Amino acid sequence: MDCQNGGFVEAVIMRYDSSLGKYNGKPRPGGPRSTLCISSQVGCKMGCNFCATGTMGFKSNLSSGEIVEQLVHASRLSNIRNVVFMGMGEPLNNYAALVEAVRIMTGLPFQVSPKRITVSTVGIVHAINKFHSDLPGLNLAVSLHAPVQDVRCQIMPAARAFPLEKLMNALKEYQKNSQQKIFIEYIMLDGVNDEEQHAHQLGKLLETFQVVVNLIPFNPIGSVSQFRTSSDDKVSSFQKILRGSYNIRTTVRKQMGQDISGACGQLVVNLPDKISAKSTPPVTDIEDLCIR
Ligand code: SF4
Repeated sequence: MDCQNGGFVEAVIMRYDSSLGKYNGKPRPGGPRSTLCISSQVGCKMGCNFCATGTMGFKSNLSSGEIVEQLVHASRLSNIRNVVFMGMGEPLNNYAALVEAVRIMTGLPFQVSPKRITVSTVGIVHAINKFHSDLPGLNLAVSLHAPVQDVRCQIMPAARAFPLEKLMNALKEYQKNSQQKIFIEYIMLDGVNDEEQHAHQLGKLLETFQVVVNLIPFNPIGSVSQFRTSSDDKVSSFQKILRGSYNIRTTVRKQMGQDISGACGQLVVNLPDKISAKSTPPVTDIEDLCIR
């Protein structure tokens, strides 16, 4: 989508069938779903080392109208049930436009239920402190990606400004006020944050919270990347430790969108490659868990 100031952003529609597979040995409820992954900025100033958008640098904030416009375009192509702010940009760094856009989306004519909207952040502490009072009922997803400050700083430069201890205190206060579970996103980087010790550190950090941890296999960006994808075995043992030793609900994100560079951390404007893109297979994802 082109913006008023000449920039471009991407939004991704994810279509899947939530009734596929089983949960607790029983057929899953639901059926065909569409989730819209929305952008809030052109580029991003957070500079996460594993993210394609971060390589663009920050260009500009979207207006609330430009954020809502992505829903308008997507609604013409698909029946959008869930909206996730996990596209380009850090939504809590464009806070006023985010709040206004969400208020429009939840009103007429869109009437998207707040519990079907998820905002993902790297952990902008001062914005988390007011998130629940400004946008009650929305889901908060936190890109934690490491259980200790030094590893977090290594892969997410923004973590220096928002130390882990301050972030966890803000999340504790948020959960106390909202009584909502928090979604924790954790990208699995081979040899960086995917060892057993990291799983135990993460388990201890989160064991007093109501959370759902979503382990995200790393999507390589371009042919050169300083990170490698964790093996399936490592992802599986990491999940087992969180579930078995700490009783933390832990999912592994199914991969989708790599063929159009539209998967997590791959949104970067590169139009010619994407125009000829194919559609992707149905999957289930974190958004199904937002239904309380
Ligand atoms: S992961 Fe999110 S916050 Fe980090 S650089 Fe990419 S878009 Fe920005």
